[in-house]
Amino acid sequence: MVSMDKAAAAARLAELRREINEHNYRYYVLDAPIISDAEYDRLMRELLELEEQYPDLVTPDSPSQRVGAPPSEAFAVVYHRVPLLSLDNVYDVEELRAWDGRLHRWLGLPQSEPLEFVAELKIDGLAVALTYEQGRFVRGATRGDGERGEDVTANLRTVRAIPLVLRNPHPDSATAGESGADRFPFTLEVRGEVYLEKEAFRRLNQERAKRGEPLFANPRNAAAGSLRQLDPRVTASRPLAFWCYALGYLEPLAGADPVAVPALPETHYERLQMLRSFGFPVNPHIRLCRGVQELVDYLREWEEKRHALDYATDGIVFKVNSVALQERLGATAHAPRWAIAFKFPAEEATTVIRQIVVQVGRTGALTPTAVFDPVEIGGSTVSRASLHNEDYIREKDIRIGDTVLVHKAGEVIPEVVKVLVERRTGAERPFVMPDRCPVCGSEVQREPGEAVARCVGRSCPAQIEEALLHFASRDAMDIQGLGPKLAHQLLEKGLVKTMADLYRLRLEDLLTLERMGRKSAENLLVAIEASKERGLARLLFGLGIRHVGEETARELARHFRTMDALMEASEAELRQVPGIGPEVASSLRAFFHDTANRQLIRELAELGVKMEATGGGRAAELTARSMAPPESSREGQMPAESPASLPNSLFARLLSRVSSRQPFTGMQIVVTGTLAGLTREEAEALIEAGGGRPGASVSRKTTFLVAGEKPGENKLARARELGTRILSEEEFLRMMEEA
Ligand code: NAD
Repeated sequence: MVSMDKAAAAARLAELRREINEHNYRYYVLDAPIISDAEYDRLMRELLELEEQYPDLVTPDSPSQRVGAPPSEAFAVVYHRVPLLSLDNVYDVEELRAWDGRLHRWLGLPQSEPLEFVAELKIDGLAVALTYEQGRFVRGATRGDGERGEDVTANLRTVRAIPLVLRNPHPDSATAGESGADRFPFTLEVRGEVYLEKEAFRRLNQERAKRGEPLFANPRNAAAGSLRQLDPRVTASRPLAFWCYALGYLEPLAGADPVAVPALPETHYERLQMLRSFGFPVNPHIRLCRGVQELVDYLREWEEKRHALDYATDGIVFKVNSVALQERLGATAHAPRWAIAFKFPAEEATTVIRQIVVQVGRTGALTPTAVFDPVEIGGSTVSRASLHNEDYIREKDIRIGDTVLVHKAGEVIPEVVKVLVERRTGAERPFVMPDRCPVCGSEVQREPGEAVARCVGRSCPAQIEEALLHFASRDAMDIQGLGPKLAHQLLEKGLVKTMADLYRLRLEDLLTLERMGRKSAENLLVAIEASKERGLARLLFGLGIRHVGEETARELARHFRTMDALMEASEAELRQVPGIGPEVASSLRAFFHDTANRQLIRELAELGVKMEATGGGRAAELTARSMAPPESSREGQMPAESPASLPNSLFARLLSRVSSRQPFTGMQIVVTGTLAGLTREEAEALIEAGGGRPGASVSRKTTFLVAGEKPGENKLARARELGTRILSEEEFLRMMEEA
């Protein structure tokens, strides 16, 4: 930090105080921030560093001395009996270890003696304090400025996860009489986080965009905005949820029978268990840890895993477990010393949109994409985000030159969450969809009722490149080694003009390409050759026919079995296939009607690309085998011992059931060990016929592992590690019988 003289520091501090207080008001009272949390944190850090340099310039109204913002006048005030403070933050492991070091010094403990902590997820919502008298919920308040909160009792009553009446903490106690006072002769206050699940947040913003209402920046603001409503019916319409994470206090009523008042456990962890027994939802991922290394392990574990949770988390909270030690450590004006928040890298940032460029996809769809000043979000640098289509841009009123809030979490693709309208200067320009394709200059059309504008040029290079990549992709023809750079070169050099040309490539052609060695060229040719065997379903998906996704392609292949039969099918015949509606049928007819497409299919067939179904083929083959009498019985003898060679009526029965009911649609299922009633081949054929995909090994994509006799240990262990459901043979059969 640049050091400045005292007068300059005083002036800067006054400016920072004013600015931060204004942002606090917008954030805590209006639930509508106009800067990102990262920007806010930068201002706050600057303030803290200056105050550390000049402690005598700290004023009582400095944001460093306070929590949140004073309650809004729209609500009655609730005075907190025990202040609701904020948390101090650390941003890396070194700072976390330093905190642990400070705890030891403050407590006068040797550094070698590990402290006991509770690790908890830091839920991104807002803190509330709930008061129960004689077991009944009587008052709920927001944190406000830590001393005084807002009375939101009526709104909190609408949150389903908040118990209105406590469960009996002493179910066996003889003192449990009829009246509430007998059973709960105490006043209890608990703290926790009210939040909105990620999906609910997305839906809420979608509805608001449609109605032209301002969007919420993140689930936290959406939760706060939903709770701090004057009309509880509005709160009730938002699916708010709640996790309880602390006991505020518990106080016996005057004259209460001491036996009926629960003894207060001496650790935070046990107190949470007690609160759980009263009926409060306590997050299942809390963990008791010994020593700072176990805290580091916990946060390493959750860094990635948290993205799979239904709710947003912005960090981990570590708390000293012993309440006696907590009391000895105490608190500053801002936060307790016995707790710390480890903050994950910010998942949102503000930036300025410099341009909106239009990209052309394989179906000719024009996708406007925002290009903005590069920003660090969620640990990576981001400079582009898809804006999907014109309607999306209009709904969110996104303009070129706008300052926007961009969000990115984990593997999630970055998105423009909202425009910070307050930051407009008047120089922003609205986006206009071009009427000519930016790649080939053909006309752009938008069909009535469709959100997407398309280039109608049949030979648009952008479309061909994307189409080739899709054709070669893993779930289509799976041509390994054919990535974007290679596809681009093949088109540019004129070696490939259509998908059929891929099968005409020769080694000499490939060797003329940049950075293409003999080995890679040979491998590519092998991959291209192998792709001829993928079968009708994957070919149909690879052709990129509009509305024909993987699932539809599989249905079509199963039903028609050959390309010829499919090409000749009328619209009415197509519509007899399960899941094929008028839109898909007409798209298929249009595709097969086109001379260029028919020519392409003819060429592919001539070049040896398989035009028949494979998956159902296996089932069909097996059925034929199982229906035919075994060799031995044909000769009038008893069948041989081996059950696998017996006509398998179970298989035939299940096959007809799964083919019509499709119980495995979209699933990947792995079979391990020996099944008593089916051979491995039959089980896999049933999975395919039932709409699923048999897998060779357990991965994140696996839906179930079916385990027979003597299952593979590795597969079982992997399934347990990933939390994949393991089915017994009986359960697997039942799934098909009851489909
Ligand atoms: P905080 O959110 O960083 O941490 C304290 C809060 O964590 C508690 O009040 C509680 O609500 C919550 N929490 C979640 N899980 C918890 C658990 N298991 N145990 C204990 N507490 C838990 O602090 P804050 O004071 O609420 O907010 C400060 C932050 O808010 C800033 O760092 C900034 O990111 C953001 N902010 C942004 C703006 C803006 O204009 N963008 C303005 C003000 C504040």
